[in-house]
Amino acid sequence: MSRRRSRHRPPSPIIPQGEAWEALCHQCGDCCFEKWIDDKGHTHPTRIPCRFLDLFNRHCTVYEQRFKMGEGCLKLSPENVADLDWLPASCGYRRFVKG
Ligand code: SF4
Repeated sequence: MSRRRSRHRPPSPIIPQGEAWEALCHQCGDCCFEKWIDDKGHTHPTRIPCRFLDLFNRHCTVYEQRFKMGEGCLKLSPENVADLDWLPASCGYRRFVKG
């Protein structure tokens, strides 16, 4: 008797696009703190805010230009969120991608 693998895969979760993806962010600002990378290449968040983070309302003060400001701001996408272990567990993107 031979066993065959099913050709059917479980359905992939539907990834929201555009504004629907952006809406996963609940604008907590918790990802907007400086990070440092240890000898093993692991990234650790600090309590030092990005200089463009408004600490009162937790919004980026240069949001539209944030990728041009040279602060190393990273665009979060369905492709990279799963690998960013420094994102807080409460992050809307992380919760969506990692469940
Ligand atoms: S930690 Fe996640 S939910 Fe919070 S501001 Fe950053 S991207 Fe948005």
